[in-house]
Amino acid sequence: MSSEAATAVRGDLPPELDDPLFRTALGQLDGALERAGVSDSVAEVLRFPERALSVAIPVRLDDGTLAVFPGYRVQHSSVLGPTKGGVRYDTAVTLGECAALAMWMTWKCALLGLPYGGAKGGVRCDPRSLSLVERERLTRRFTSELLPIIGPQRDIPAPDMATDAQTMAWMMDTYSMQVGHAVPEIVTGKPLSVGGSVLRPEATGIGVVMVVEGAVERLGWTLDGARCVVQGFGKVGAIAAAELAARGARVTAVSDIEGGIHAEGGLDLAALDAWLRETGGIAGFEGSQRVTNAELLELDCDVLVLAATERQVTEANAGLISARLVAEGANGPTTLEADEILFARGIPVLPDILTNAGGVAVSYFEWVQDLQRLFWGPDEIRTRLGDLMRDALERVWALAEAEELTLRSAALVQSIRHVAAALQSRGVYP
Ligand code: GLU
Repeated sequence: MSSEAATAVRGDLPPELDDPLFRTALGQLDGALERAGVSDSVAEVLRFPERALSVAIPVRLDDGTLAVFPGYRVQHSSVLGPTKGGVRYDTAVTLGECAALAMWMTWKCALLGLPYGGAKGGVRCDPRSLSLVERERLTRRFTSELLPIIGPQRDIPAPDMATDAQTMAWMMDTYSMQVGHAVPEIVTGKPLSVGGSVLRPEATGIGVVMVVEGAVERLGWTLDGARCVVQGFGKVGAIAAAELAARGARVTAVSDIEGGIHAEGGLDLAALDAWLRETGGIAGFEGSQRVTNAELLELDCDVLVLAATERQVTEANAGLISARLVAEGANGPTTLEADEILFARGIPVLPDILTNAGGVAVSYFEWVQDLQRLFWGPDEIRTRLGDLMRDALERVWALAEAEELTLRSAALVQSIRHVAAALQSRGVYP
């Protein structure tokens, strides 16, 4: 192809990636590329994923019928090492969504200095409608479809939305059965009994609060007595809420998929946990008022933790957020337009690729422990996690101040520079 023909297609969004979340990821990247100062050819390499696999997963349901679910795995960049990222089960999973999330994993790993590139996968299904055995069959068949592209030195899956340690144990077992011996390092987020790491389930939530605490200090206030609202009371949000409360903060509202609860005096999280276990939800918790998810986001507070899912703060509600600080525990919860509105309103946003990176950080510790067959205790994990998170926050904050960038741009610019330097050194094969 002539260079003229190459220019004609350069930068066009391939139709299979035309998804609102991928547009957000691309918009963020394009916005940061100039500041990162990387060459056009490097920029072009980073805009689209290296590899994507689309599979059909037939599953025998409990009633004897067969259902076929679409599944994907996208590897954005393997420049820094094997690709790394979660697998989600959700009705909204698309190839484009996985591509956006894979790109964010590249930036997240690069920002923390982990020797990984980014990946993400998922199956489009309603996980709540599947029984445990149906989920096991789905997971095992999905894993076997992924065999050509995953591996402990190639691509290492982990939990994400609606997947957990049990899902990872099935993936690990399916892979291990194929190669003929136990390979714990093929996935992270496993149960302890098969090579998981202590603190991995809590790592994302703990990391969120480590970053919030550091940011709050730099802003000149403290978490003691701070009013915190947490959207999403799941794997990330529930731990973040507990960690905030442990630092003296008042958690005034939380939500799950059905809606939120609010108590201006603060929620008793231990009692809420017991209520959740008893009733299966947070609704009706004594002493709280019911709020919708939309109302919860607009509550007056000091810290708003977004730990539910993507595209929650948009053009429509960014003007109504009344928090002093927003922390992204989920991936992609703020749209490009919302980012601009929050910036104009002087509300700092702690970006996802920094704030929720505690999960992949402890995944990295798990993988290292598995490879060494040598396991660390909780104190060592917490200390190492704290060092990584605080160091990343320090670098992002310093760059944001030095180059007058938002925290998101500063995080992206650092990550892009790191990946670009590796790309330049490695060059293009052949
Ligand atoms: N799914 C998590 C994330 O979005 C963790 C990924 C991992 O541990 O590999 O960061």
